[in-house]
Amino acid sequence: MSVNLQTPIDYLKGVGPNRADLLRSELGIHTYQDLINLFPNRYIDRTKYYKINELQRNNAEVQVIGQITSFREVAQKRGKRLVAEFRDDTGVMELVWFRGQKWIRESLKTGQPYVIFGKTNWFNGKFSMPHPELELLSEHESNLRSAMQAIYPSTEKLTNKGITNRVVSKIMQQLFLETKGRYAETLSDSIRGELKLLSKSDALFNIHFPKSPELLARAQFRLKFEELFYIQLQLILKNLIHKSKIKGFVFDKVGDYFNTFYNNHLPFELTDAQKRVLKEIRADLGSNAQMNRLLQGDVGSGKTIVAFMSILMGLDNGFQCCLMAPTEILSVQHYNGLLEWCNKLNISISLLTGSTKTSGRKEIHENLENGNLQILVGTHALLEDKVKFKNLGLAIIDEQHRFGVKQRSKLWHKNELPPNVLVMTATPIPRTLAMSVYGDLDISIIDELPAGRKPIKTVHRYDNNRLKVFRFMKDEIAEGRQIYVVYPLIQESEKMDYKDLMDGYESISREFPTPDYQISIVHGKMKAEDKDYEMQRFAEGKTNIMVATTVIEVGVNVPNASVMVIESAERFGLSQLHQLRGRVGRGAEQSYCILMTGHKLSNDSKTRLETMVRSSDGFEIAEVDLKLRGPGDIMGTQQSGVLNLRIADIVKDKDVLERARYHAKSILNLDPSLALPEHKVILNTYRQMSKYRNIWNYIS
Ligand code: ADP
Ligand code: MG
Repeated sequence: MSVNLQTPIDYLKGVGPNRADLLRSELGIHTYQDLINLFPNRYIDRTKYYKINELQRNNAEVQVIGQITSFREVAQKRGKRLVAEFRDDTGVMELVWFRGQKWIRESLKTGQPYVIFGKTNWFNGKFSMPHPELELLSEHESNLRSAMQAIYPSTEKLTNKGITNRVVSKIMQQLFLETKGRYAETLSDSIRGELKLLSKSDALFNIHFPKSPELLARAQFRLKFEELFYIQLQLILKNLIHKSKIKGFVFDKVGDYFNTFYNNHLPFELTDAQKRVLKEIRADLGSNAQMNRLLQGDVGSGKTIVAFMSILMGLDNGFQCCLMAPTEILSVQHYNGLLEWCNKLNISISLLTGSTKTSGRKEIHENLENGNLQILVGTHALLEDKVKFKNLGLAIIDEQHRFGVKQRSKLWHKNELPPNVLVMTATPIPRTLAMSVYGDLDISIIDELPAGRKPIKTVHRYDNNRLKVFRFMKDEIAEGRQIYVVYPLIQESEKMDYKDLMDGYESISREFPTPDYQISIVHGKMKAEDKDYEMQRFAEGKTNIMVATTVIEVGVNVPNASVMVIESAERFGLSQLHQLRGRVGRGAEQSYCILMTGHKLSNDSKTRLETMVRSSDGFEIAEVDLKLRGPGDIMGTQQSGVLNLRIADIVKDKDVLERARYHAKSILNLDPSLALPEHKVILNTYRQMSKYRNIWNYIS
């Protein structure tokens, strides 16, 4: 009979109520199981001993053998510190305590050989070690030491209360003693065999007490794989359950609208990626499960026509469809684009936004309810309670991150059955992250731009080259092109930013005087209608230059704009730079993006600028962004729990994640309910995990 791993940590020998409380509050360790899963941050070599004259001024952790020769107290601003002189046969250093002095003074003896361990400081011409770990040499020798001793996560409070790394190591040893180091296997034989994974017991032993670097590496791999595997299993299962439980409308036929459009009105040859994605959507819509699909495609990759052709599938089956965009400008653009196609096919379509007049609104409401209106395009206005569809079959949401999940689900309640949902986003999310954050959505990717598009030329210029940049802008304007000049706007320095914007606007006005040049300006402090008016003037080609803060970031389409100048480019994040650059390169002309900066650049800024100059691949850029910023700052990860991983790292362990997902998928393909005997161990582990909340915090 093995020890029950759900045993409260208080019962472990050497823990006791005080330590148990601290372990719970500081590290979230409630049970034996939690303790086993406290994985080390790193490992250090405890077989190496330094002589005092070998110490380096690099603040590294070292281990020294020597004797305390004397104690003294030194008064300081507040209280006092206890200093011990510590010698070996090569020199002298100091040990220093700011707390717990009485206890230290009473328990330590002079003239006895000790092993000290800790970080050294160079202070007043001497090495010192604050709050060292100390052990009598005789005791030290009786303990097992390895070249890779685990260093565990800790907190200041734990260290202050005497729960040092040595103590944690000791209770970990105790745990392995009590459990005899035997832990139930949690992965199937076939996975273990295929990936040559260590057994669970061996992996746990070697993660805490590595026998060799090779075994440590294998232990880490096995545990990372397991962690990611069960997360993927959970996400994929969620998706499967969703599909089997939530019936959707079935669009079972491909009909006249679709065929007529495809055969007679297709304005261009679809890219292979567009065709593939349409097939994926078609398969979803043709099944009787509700579609919940995320469509990712870089700016300009041609998501709109995919949306429209999906809508045609809905109409062919007698359903209404809607397309929702985050801003008025975008909605109008979508509406105008679709209107042209709808007219050819004799399809009814309306636009509903905040500025739709009351009479128009009423008409739309009526036609929606009686089914005369087939397509509704608009903003958040679509979500109002008054908007009722007769039979909404497909809802498409553009630029996903501007809408919350709550708003998405509002659309559901406009019907008896939830409509099929297609969410489109131009913010590429690295695959690894998408797998973890959106693992329960199906994902389609348009990873190919329409043929013949000229890549945007991107350059980095320093501020002192501004005159050359102005000259270039004039040449482009002379060719009939239009230009964006964008300034950063960051909340913390809003005032300064507006000053920069206004200064910039002035100097551009001086350089490009009327009547030869017309300039628009748009920023967040303007009224919405003034903004729209200026945007409209620019879109109609009435102005040559658009000076703006980042309000133009989302979706505006002005194909004649061929130059994007980004001021203080070092202050923008990578994904924002990429989005901004996507505003140009939409026409047939060669387009340019000019990143202006000062000379002083941080390393991260340099990487961002170099990445932009080198690459136009949104996914590649997103990967770099993820590496620079970590997952915490990337959209949508906060709630997802990808940050709560115990041992795997979403960025560094990409390969392990891919394998984990692959195996989770193939197992569920073969055996969706995990009923086969060989999958019993997986089913049990999965159930166990769902039962104990603290492990299952991964997923909300
Ligand atoms: P986005 O994915 O950014 O929404 P759009 O759907 O607005 O991209 O498409 C960008 C431009 O590319 C549009 O002018 C569109 O007509 C054009 N386009 C889309 N697909 C193709 C294609 N397969 N071949 C040529 N042009 C295309
Ligand atoms: Mg678009």
